[in-house]
Amino acid sequence: MKLCSFFYRDKKRVYKLYLNKQNKIAKKKFSSVPFGSRIVFVPHCMRNSEACVAIENDSYYVCRECCGCKISKISKLIKKLKYRSLYIVKGSSVVGKIIKEKEPKAIIGIACFFEGNQVFKKILKKKDIATQFVPLMKDGCSGTDIDMKKMEDILYLTTD
Ligand code: SF4
Repeated sequence: MKLCSFFYRDKKRVYKLYLNKQNKIAKKKFSSVPFGSRIVFVPHCMRNSEACVAIENDSYYVCRECCGCKISKISKLIKKLKYRSLYIVKGSSVVGKIIKEKEPKAIIGIACFFEGNQVFKKILKKKDIATQFVPLMKDGCSGTDIDMKKMEDILYLTTD
């Protein structure tokens, strides 16, 4: 058991280093992309599942800003800044599908370190999309959470 948790912590540390490095590499390019060409991906585990009134599609939800969780604040902010859209995705495989359809120039992805690492390596590495990763500070299958200050700092990134 102790050995398992050691390997888990070690893997998490490796993923964290990798994703922090990717954020640094892409920051300048991300900042130069107009808000209207950016998409935000949020994991569905961040919803308040007991209160959520989001509209459900096949592979994602559309937030109705009921203020039941932080997604409401993110959704309002991206509308104010005129980001292209926000998707509350049911899984990382959906991200590739949406990117193919919508062809954003930049994305912000909220995820745990494991999912973030998977998406970067399997989907984003092959594409020319400036990406900023926002880690879940509390991960799990539900009731996950992020640091809103970190999220806002990334949402507002520009070269101006
Ligand atoms: S703010 Fe949006 S995502 Fe959060 S619980 Fe309400 S409708 Fe669902």
